[in-house]
Amino acid sequence: MNKGDSDLMAHSLEKAGLRRASGEETADIVVFNTCSVRAHAEERALARIRSARSKGQALIVVTGCMAQRLGKRLLAQGYADLVVGPYQSPRLGEILSSGGGARAYLSQDHRDFAPRTDEAAAGRRDELPFHKWVTITHGCENYCSYCIVPYVRGRLISFPSEAILRHIRQCVEGGATEITLLGQNVNQYGMDSGDIPFHRLLALAAETPGLLRVNFLTSHPMDFRDDIVRVIADHGNISRSVHLPLQSGSDRVLALMNRKYTLERYASIIAHLERTLPDHAVSTDLIVGFPGETEDDYELTLEAVRRFRFDEAFMYAYSPREGTPSFAMEEGIGRERKLERLQNLIDLQRAISREKLLARVDRAEEIIVEGPSKKSPDEYRGRTYLNHPAVLPAGPADVGRKVSVIIKKLRGSTLYGERSA
Ligand code: SAM
Ligand code: SF4
Repeated sequence: MNKGDSDLMAHSLEKAGLRRASGEETADIVVFNTCSVRAHAEERALARIRSARSKGQALIVVTGCMAQRLGKRLLAQGYADLVVGPYQSPRLGEILSSGGGARAYLSQDHRDFAPRTDEAAAGRRDELPFHKWVTITHGCENYCSYCIVPYVRGRLISFPSEAILRHIRQCVEGGATEITLLGQNVNQYGMDSGDIPFHRLLALAAETPGLLRVNFLTSHPMDFRDDIVRVIADHGNISRSVHLPLQSGSDRVLALMNRKYTLERYASIIAHLERTLPDHAVSTDLIVGFPGETEDDYELTLEAVRRFRFDEAFMYAYSPREGTPSFAMEEGIGRERKLERLQNLIDLQRAISREKLLARVDRAEEIIVEGPSKKSPDEYRGRTYLNHPAVLPAGPADVGRKVSVIIKKLRGSTLYGERSA
């Protein structure tokens, strides 16, 4: 989401006549686009800002969720010269060129949203990267008890489907071959506005001529319906990788988290995916050490990981966020035990991810080429339709194109492919 927002800000700055600097040291303005999901993300952003302050005289702009959450405190404590929240950041160029006045742009007025599906955001033909982030909803009203997002990004707003589809067509005309539809819970698309449901938007997006791949993030098990799986099955250019955060394997903890599904509901989605999509991948998010999580609850999470065999998981130690309902709940275990639980979980998942990758060796895959690999100038990296990272022999002309390969080996967590006919 932040990458998508950064793209919009870059576009707005360029439209206002600003130019990209070669690095932080030579920039007149440095923009820090921040995250508030965990305390660690904020601590790292604050350290980076302090370091930029100590190096030079650049104007410092803080955007994103930490700007919204800490707002004027960042100004008062000297971290920022200007703070701009997620509602306002798509017009950052306009704000900067209006020549000052206010130093905080934190309003969450819906009208501030118009620039987000601005037709011009598709950019000029020669500059457009092959992949575009396409935000379809902003905000979230699910109020998972640990999560700061509803407070800093506000209520659910679905952008009009017509504007989204027009924007996607323009991206493709400008050279994009892959898009990712973005929202905190894309499955709730249209529920606020009465627009078409998510599975229809996904189908229409995939039917845009010239699109080689459509990804979508994030799905919520509470709203993930069978018709989404049907649309994936019917469209060869929709990614076969579904990101479906489970968070915990314990129904008791899921209820405390206010996730509104049970482990068996999650299992029924996985079973449906297996029945309908012969070849697919599932990735997830998991939190350990949620307040009140017992050893038994934690065991249930490990058991769920063994049962569902996720291709990939993003695993976090619970981080209390002020203003969320779980902030007031007692944590129960110390930091050390929390980190131990996290490490055990990571070890288990890593072994499973490796087995899933090894199972791809000797198989035919299609890869969309992203760019040169770090290790060798003759090797390019990309991702398969199951979202597995892969490397293959390719050149600059292949970037953004689909290439067929046979997977020959696995090194670390990267598949190595050879071109097939
Ligand atoms: N909207 C998505 C969803 O519902 O899963 C993801 C939103 S959140 C930005 C990404 C992930 O961060 C969550 O899925 C959760 O695992 C994790 N997360 C959110 N708040 C957290 C907290 N307070 N402590 C630890 N992890 C957290
Ligand atoms: Fe946060 Fe839950 Fe909304 Fe995801 S669905 S952004 S975890 S409140």
